[in-house]
Amino acid sequence: MIPIAIIGAGITGIACAQRLKEAGLKSVIFDKGRGIGGRVATRRIGGLQFDHGAQYVSAHGREFAAVLENLIVSGSATPWCTVNEHIGIVGSPGMSSLAKALAMDLEVRQNARVTSIEKIGNNWRFKTNDTDQTARTLIITVPSPQVPALLGLEHPLVSKLKGVSFAPCLTLMAAVCVPVSSMVWDDPNSSVSWIAQDSSKPNRSASDASTWVAHAGAKFSEQNLEKTPVELVDLMLPMLCDRLGVGLDQVSYASVHRWLYAHVIAPFGLPFLEHECSSLYLAGDWCIGSDVEAAWTSGTALANEIILRN
Ligand SMILES: Cc1cc2nc3c(=O)[nH]c(=O)nc-3n(C[C@H](O)[C@H](O)[C@H](O)COP(=O)(O)OP(=O)(O)OC[C@H]3O[C@@H](n4cnc5c(N)ncnc54)[C@H](O)[C@@H]3O)c2cc1C
Repeated sequence: MIPIAIIGAGITGIACAQRLKEAGLKSVIFDKGRGIGGRVATRRIGGLQFDHGAQYVSAHGREFAAVLENLIVSGSATPWCTVNEHIGIVGSPGMSSLAKALAMDLEVRQNARVTSIEKIGNNWRFKTNDTDQTARTLIITVPSPQVPALLGLEHPLVSKLKGVSFAPCLTLMAAVCVPVSSMVWDDPNSSVSWIAQDSSKPNRSASDASTWVAHAGAKFSEQNLEKTPVELVDLMLPMLCDRLGVGLDQVSYASVHRWLYAHVIAPFGLPFLEHECSSLYLAGDWCIGSDVEAAWTSGTALANEIILRN
């Protein structure tokens, strides 16, 4: 029997497990992915790497600022500055390093997609790809639109999620084999809402190609979500090349990642949700915000509540 099982090894799940561990409470995290970090992700292809999810993190609160400071001191994070401005803190050598560092001493089972959840007596039984697990307390930290598939449409917690909404994001990853001076483009209302030279972030490995990440705006992403990966590259690559002033023939690699649930548009408004049985909880960035700090705050707040009751 697992005392506390957490579904999702994004920043919410990791922060929750970390705080529980500090208080001497054991938890096990299950994640469907091959890596950990969820939307804080780094894709490695050959010698190239791309932070295709969260681009950087920043802290508004004192507690999260202290977490970032510790990550900087331990070498897992570093400030990212252009000539003119401080953009934020990035993982080193990739954004996923942040999640890996935070999850260092935790038990995380990867490639473990939870497919069903059932309450048996006072416990929670759930299935992953190939195992049956039982937990005393269950914490779900997946994006809210994915909760109904786990709990069922009729579950009382699911009806509370109606007001929460997400926007998708199409992310283009491209390598260009000619030098382009470093740039960051940030315009939420444009078809391409964000462009950054990934390889210009600090502590990236030296590579001949300069790597770029471009995010499509919410409207463009919504309208083109159903297109095939090849169609999406054909659509988005010319827009990036246009902005960079390079030819399509100067691109040595391009692919698109589809984030169905990327950015929270309308959050829930409280740091976590609790079922009346007091052994089932929901948490995630979507509870209170739309960024990594919101995820960390939600996971930590839930852990603090569970610690209080033990
Ligand atoms: C393109 C993009 C750009 C962004 N840019 C920024 C930025 O610059 N700065 C910033 O602060 N934030 C940014 N964000 C938002 C930030 O990434 C999120 O707010 C944060 O990472 C959310 O963490 P989370 O743990 O709540 O959710 P997630 O990271 O989504 O974690 C949920 C986890 O649950 C797992 N999971 C889902 N279903 C199951 C299942 N059935 N079984 C097992 N596991 C499951 C997933 O694999 C995932 O690991 C960006 C997000 C995207 C997508």
